[in-house]
Amino acid sequence: MAAALQFDVLVIGSGASGLASAVAAERAGARVAVATKAALQSCNSAKAQGGIQAAVGEDDSPETHAEDVWRSSHETADMGLVEILTSEAPATIRWLEEVGVEFTRENGGYRIARCGGATRKRLLQVGDRTGHAITKALRKAIESSTAQTFPHSPLTELEPAGTGWRARCGEHVVEAGTVVLAAGGRCFREAEERGELGGSPQDPDSMQPQVLLPRIVVERLGRGQRSMGGAASRRAGRRSEPVRGSSVLCPSPEPGG
Ligand SMILES: Cc1cc2nc3c(=O)[nH]c(=O)nc-3n(C[C@H](O)[C@H](O)[C@H](O)COP(=O)(O)OP(=O)(O)OC[C@H]3O[C@@H](n4cnc5c(N)ncnc54)[C@H](O)[C@@H]3O)c2cc1C
Repeated sequence: MAAALQFDVLVIGSGASGLASAVAAERAGARVAVATKAALQSCNSAKAQGGIQAAVGEDDSPETHAEDVWRSSHETADMGLVEILTSEAPATIRWLEEVGVEFTRENGGYRIARCGGATRKRLLQVGDRTGHAITKALRKAIESSTAQTFPHSPLTELEPAGTGWRARCGEHVVEAGTVVLAAGGRCFREAEERGELGGSPQDPDSMQPQVLLPRIVVERLGRGQRSMGGAASRRAGRRSEPVRGSSVLCPSPEPGG
């Protein structure tokens, strides 16, 4: 086996979720690698045209957003996750702008549309290419950072090694203390089935070993380095990161963040 390349964080997948995790981890000071199955540009995130929701309208609030999600889910959603999503979404929008995403504006504010299940207008867009614009900006941030990228390098093996993990990604062997599974769901499901996730995604301290959902890794890396954000984080007494959708992570837009 080839000599293993060493990193603090290995991110699997180059969709919005993986790229945002990688940008946040790199900015928190970690040595980061991104390994992805095909080209770096290849992901579902880039295909998302509709937009991204956040309670930014004057008549809106994270609580109203959460109620809408709850009703739309026929009262089946995990409200812990919904609260994180809705309370941190506005900060995520600002962070994405800082990374370089230019959301469409009109009359001095965001252009927001109303979408299915929403009682308020809260869908932000970048023209009709929102996912493309978000992934392009994140990719640019990664490509101009110290992070190393391994395109055409699908994860095929992942095993505990020392205090972390050894992964085979295409022809590369990578060792990292933390692995972020952001491959669109399948990797996470497999790790879960194999019992490698340990505790709950909402309780990072219970998760051993460190195969993590995207939002968890930067909580760990950022702990103690920056102030916390979001009601859920305050309750949990830990730093948290806003999320978009079920798996997308971005850090708070704090100075120097
Ligand atoms: C046509 C379309 C339109 C959509 N419109 C919207 C919308 O308007 N608004 C919205 O919020 N959501 C929308 N969605 C859903 C949204 O795109 C997804 O929820 C989101 O992109 C998921 O992001 P992700 O980073 O988790 O996964 P993805 O973007 O799918 O990224 C997964 C990454 O993992 C890589 N990968 C997979 N397996 C491996 C492996 N074994 N090893 C290494 N890498 C691997 C893939 O190549 C890819 O780079 C839409 C989806 C589609 C398909």
